[in-house]
Amino acid sequence: MSEPLVHRMRAFGTTIFAEMSALAVQTGSINLGQGFPDTDGPSAMLERAVEAIKGGANQYPPGPGVPELREAVSEHRASHYGLQYDPAGEILVTVGATEAIAASVLALCEPGDEVIAFEPYYDSYAASIAMAGARLVAVTLRPVDGRFTFDPAELRAAVSPRTKAILVNSPHNPTGTVFTRGELTTIAELCQERDLIAITDEVYEHLTFDGAEHVPMATLPGMRERTVMISSAGKSFSVTGWKTGWICAPPPLVKAVQTVKQFLTFTASAPWQLAVAYGLRNELQWVAGLRAELESKRDRLMEGLSAAGFEVLKPSGTYFVQTDIRPLGFTDGLDLTRKLPALAGVVAIPTQVFYDHQERGSHFVRFAFCKKDEVIDEAVTRLKHLSP
Ligand code: PMP
Ligand code: GLN
Repeated sequence: MSEPLVHRMRAFGTTIFAEMSALAVQTGSINLGQGFPDTDGPSAMLERAVEAIKGGANQYPPGPGVPELREAVSEHRASHYGLQYDPAGEILVTVGATEAIAASVLALCEPGDEVIAFEPYYDSYAASIAMAGARLVAVTLRPVDGRFTFDPAELRAAVSPRTKAILVNSPHNPTGTVFTRGELTTIAELCQERDLIAITDEVYEHLTFDGAEHVPMATLPGMRERTVMISSAGKSFSVTGWKTGWICAPPPLVKAVQTVKQFLTFTASAPWQLAVAYGLRNELQWVAGLRAELESKRDRLMEGLSAAGFEVLKPSGTYFVQTDIRPLGFTDGLDLTRKLPALAGVVAIPTQVFYDHQERGSHFVRFAFCKKDEVIDEAVTRLKHLSP
């Protein structure tokens, strides 16, 4: 048979996360690659999911999501950010942020439209844009004084008459940058000047460090009306396997995204929605504790990686650390991460796969620190064998 996969998806093989997690299992390595915690979310919230199943929440929920969750999201946006979203018509529950991103791009972009994203970018952006037949235009984030940021002139130059939307991910995976109000204002002004939609991926909204503030794009003047704000329970509550996310946006944008979403999955699973509603209403203290724990894990991993010879770039958010591998004598992160299980019994993610301009990221490797302290310590001990 000739290649059955449609042409526009041929550049997308197996995701790097699947490849590297399989490599970790196969080689018995410590997995600091794919970002998932090795401890559970708040126990009362887990209990709520069990109760939901036993209590009969086992049939299709309404397409936009169970009312409890839409109400809880609305309350949370209001109390946390001062943003008002009507649970009836301005909030849509999705199967994780992944579906929210795909449905948004499919709903809002015509074939041939351009979507700007900051590289290195989360891998599903490119795939979603390709599925829509649209074109990704990458604006590179580069380290300036140890923090990845963009050049406003480069961003401006990336906008063309075909640009439809900018995908903004802050806190940013995989660099750990939390965009400042100033950076967001630059993006916001451009969106208004060129009539662009902002699709904002805010899945790490609660995971910021050293007092860095997460500013939702929709809170900036003139932006609520043109922003599709995307969140997910996975990172905030350490339940990445629950795949429960949501979008908040004005009615015409929600309606557009829902039109597509209803034919991707129709609706998201019922029990998790009820449990996440409980989490948003009762477990924000737990989330604050997670944030503090992650900050100390970040410091622990950074210290260990520095001692092992990596140059470490300090993240202000997410649960990932970027390292420059050149001080250890390596230049190609993809090559190194494929060998790392044999060299050190550790798995990490080569950052270059998240670039259109791969050569700009070939010397970066990402490590996850959402792991038990003893796991981080053991990984670091092993990585010390890399030093010449
Ligand atoms: N966006 C970013 C930046 C991510 O890191 C992830 C991975 N969790 C997602 C989206 C996907 O989130 P979900 O698991 O809720 O689909
Ligand atoms: N968001 C996770 C990460 O960046 C991975 C999610 C996935 O496996 N697709 O590591």
